[in-house]
Amino acid sequence: KLSVDHLSKSFGGNEVLKNLSFHIDEDEFVAILGPSGSGKSTLFHLIGGLYAPDSGEIQLDGKNINSRKGSISYMPQSPSLLPWRTTLDNVLLGAELAGKKERQAALEMMDKAGLKGYEKAYPHQLSGGMKQRAAFIRSLLSPQPLICLDEPFSALDEFTRSEMQRWLLDIWQENKRSILFVTHNIEEALFLADRILVLSEKPATIEGEFHVNFPRPREEDITLTEEFLQCKK
Ligand code: ATP
Ligand code: MG
Repeated sequence: KLSVDHLSKSFGGNEVLKNLSFHIDEDEFVAILGPSGSGKSTLFHLIGGLYAPDSGEIQLDGKNINSRKGSISYMPQSPSLLPWRTTLDNVLLGAELAGKKERQAALEMMDKAGLKGYEKAYPHQLSGGMKQRAAFIRSLLSPQPLICLDEPFSALDEFTRSEMQRWLLDIWQENKRSILFVTHNIEEALFLADRILVLSEKPATIEGEFHVNFPRPREEDITLTEEFLQCKK
């Protein structure tokens, strides 16, 4: 369970997060929507332990996040691959003790994600979307109880995106854990998430919260989208 309590963060005079609180259960799949510049990535940096908050606290299963860094798989908005490692090694970084099984899974996923033939390539030899897919596969293969994905599909074409969305949903259904992801796409949020948190303009607080009804809507199901837009008004 992830608990974010009264979190505030400023950069100089720029107040980005203000008294932000929310909780996520251990098997919840949650989307974060919010205007560009509202502080979504900043929130993820704080959860990932890259920045310290000015005030407030983040806890995972009752323990301060700083002591739980190894329990989080965090995919930043700009995919961070280690430049001195091959793409396959980068993909396997998240899978602790990568054995034969993990290696096989990684190769299959890379193949399906259009990365076949790039296993031994270095990150600078990949396109932006390819790096994003490699970083995404790395997150999928990691066993951590909390997965944070910052706009994981932003650089992908429609077809690849819907395939990757399906993978994410399948992996979560197979092995439930907390998944938190940022998106600008309402349909994507409705398709994937149990719950959608809407951040306000900076300084970000939770402006709205929306529970997605089960069964999950199909992408073409627009009634929920309308309901959602209604709730935002
Ligand atoms: P987008 O949807 O465009 O990705 P975002 O909601 O993720 O936007 P952030 O990247 O969190 O927004 O940025 C929120 C605010 O925090 C911006 O005003 C940005 O300039 C500021 N900011 C973020 N990181 C830093 C930093 N390291 N130093 C100074 N200011 C920062
Ligand atoms: Mg961002």
